[in-house]
Amino acid sequence: MGDLNVLERVRGPREEAVRRLAFRILRRGEVASSAAIAKGTGFSVGEVDDALRSLASGGQVELDTDGRVVGSAGLTLLPTSHRLTLGGVALYTWCAIDAIGIPAALDQDALATTSCPQCGRELWIEFERGRPASEPGFVAWLPTDPCSNVREELCPQANLFCDEEHLRSWRAGSGDPRGEVLSLSQVEALGRESWGSLR
Ligand SMILES: [Zn+2]
Repeated sequence: MGDLNVLERVRGPREEAVRRLAFRILRRGEVASSAAIAKGTGFSVGEVDDALRSLASGGQVELDTDGRVVGSAGLTLLPTSHRLTLGGVALYTWCAIDAIGIPAALDQDALATTSCPQCGRELWIEFERGRPASEPGFVAWLPTDPCSNVREELCPQANLFCDEEHLRSWRAGSGDPRGEVLSLSQVEALGRESWGSLR
């Protein structure tokens, strides 16, 4: 495993508290307003809005036009090509790593659905208390180029593939980008490390 810091950027304690509470509200399938986050964290609405602006500029939260949180730490209410039913709540994630790492870190029952960028086949992973079961051979791609916005720059490239052969073909056809090949159990471990603080 290489540079995992790509998923974990430096944040202040206020940003961390705001991000964590927003993530918890989103897990229920609800939009997180500044007022709800302020109430839950003890910060003022102004302080929460400042923290949200800073997090949004790094792609760590996703805001709607009213400034409410619709995505945080990879989990989103807005449809993407990665679906995640988490503890019975229908949600989406920013990338395939999120769809696998989040249920692993939360020890939850879940169903993640994504597709192989090379052949378009739909790939399913079922989780029982955070333990993934799927067809053998699935591999994930984690870009390692430095980026300033996780959601916009890293997430579109972080995908799951049928097998190493399809990942190799995709890399060859995509200008041989820099990154790491991860097995499902490595993504699971990465998830526990990256989202452990959001439990
Ligand atoms: Zn494929």
